[in-house]
Amino acid sequence: MKLPKVRELGEAVKALIKGPYTSSFPRETHTPHQNFRGLPKFNAGKCVGCLACEAVCPVNAIAHEDRMDDDPPVRVMIHYLDTCIFCGQCEAACIADHLGIKLSTEWDLTFFDRANAFETIEKELQLCEICGDAVGCTAHLLWIANRLGELAYSSPTLYLTRMKQLGLADDLLVAHKADQNRSDRFKILCARCRRTTTMTVEEQASVTSAESA
Ligand code: SF4
Ligand code: SF4
Repeated sequence: MKLPKVRELGEAVKALIKGPYTSSFPRETHTPHQNFRGLPKFNAGKCVGCLACEAVCPVNAIAHEDRMDDDPPVRVMIHYLDTCIFCGQCEAACIADHLGIKLSTEWDLTFFDRANAFETIEKELQLCEICGDAVGCTAHLLWIANRLGELAYSSPTLYLTRMKQLGLADDLLVAHKADQNRSDRFKILCARCRRTTTMTVEEQASVTSAESA
């Protein structure tokens, strides 16, 4: 007969005193170790909707849907629970101090219908005031503005987003400037419309100065 080793005897005595290492699942709910890498969960209050997690996810378990026609427009962040491999890359890449999405200790992922195996959060979306395309989530633009500090005031999209948050943006100001053909530069714009309007205004300015010369 093979005799147990001293270490095994020690473990057996320890288990007798402290209780068994294994849980009695399914009779009792299993509580995993605090460092267990379980289901990642979005934190709607921290996430800024930047899509970095979607970009790094190796199995496309994160996706988004921009709902421009909602009032207000929203970006829906989607996490597919049945695709996720719990690798933690999303948490590692999260720009919101790794708190926008975070691995939890949740491990019981049984579903009766696989079509329900997803979780979502919604973030308010800023649309381009000319073409209506998504510029980014309001929280993300504010995050960038905060990082840039006073440099954010070189971008109307950033400072107008911040002023709107503070209730200081005056839409009438835009209307007043409309007849001067320069108002488009003082709007929240996507990169394409920013380039187009800037070039158009500068082209008009160069034509005007050429005519007056
Ligand atoms: S844990 Fe890994 S697989 Fe799951 S959503 Fe995050 S990056 Fe994707
Ligand atoms: S803030 Fe974090 S969780 Fe939210 S979209 Fe960006 S990377 Fe993903």
